[in-house]
Amino acid sequence: MSELCAICGERVGERVCPALGGKRICSVCCGKNRLKTLHCPPDCPYLLAAERNLRERRARELSKGWALLVSYLRQAGKGHLLPYLEVLREALARGLHELDATDTEVAAALDYCARKLSPIELLERPPSPLGKALEEAFLPLVRSGKLDGEVVREAMRTLAEFVEHFSRGDDERRFVRGLLGLYPPPPKEKPGLILRPGSPP
Ligand SMILES: [Zn+2]
Repeated sequence: MSELCAICGERVGERVCPALGGKRICSVCCGKNRLKTLHCPPDCPYLLAAERNLRERRARELSKGWALLVSYLRQAGKGHLLPYLEVLREALARGLHELDATDTEVAAALDYCARKLSPIELLERPPSPLGKALEEAFLPLVRSGKLDGEVVREAMRTLAEFVEHFSRGDDERRFVRGLLGLYPPPPKEKPGLILRPGSPP
């Protein structure tokens, strides 16, 4: 007879749970309690698979939302923002490979940079790490004249609004997950998943 789930005691425990010292639980209880009542280790294969699936789903949603944004901007005569938005979202993805952030924090970081580029606005608060990273990526390009500061600012505001709009729902990282689904972190960011020569087993 198969072992029953250590949580519900009803269904078959088909998953070995590292948070419960290797006890077996069912997939329903795994999904329900993951990172809530269970202290899942970051390398749990079920946790990693769930995050990967969620990112893929969010990436599909983000692609749809992005296509709507693109056609809206073209119709509104703001097609010149599009290449800037592409550069911005790639820069954001690179930042998010290093720094964890929620959608609210992403929008705030964009808003911070847009203000920083403004000749008149004064900033009361210091930036978040992501805001600082964006600032360091874009300010030199604007100051040296490689990018048009006015257009970068408008693109940052547009993207911040898009993130706020897209983020509606119960996932506070809907945009972040979608972006990481479209621009996955390079393999070196995931120690343990890929063994390189010379790395410890
Ligand atoms: Zn169960």
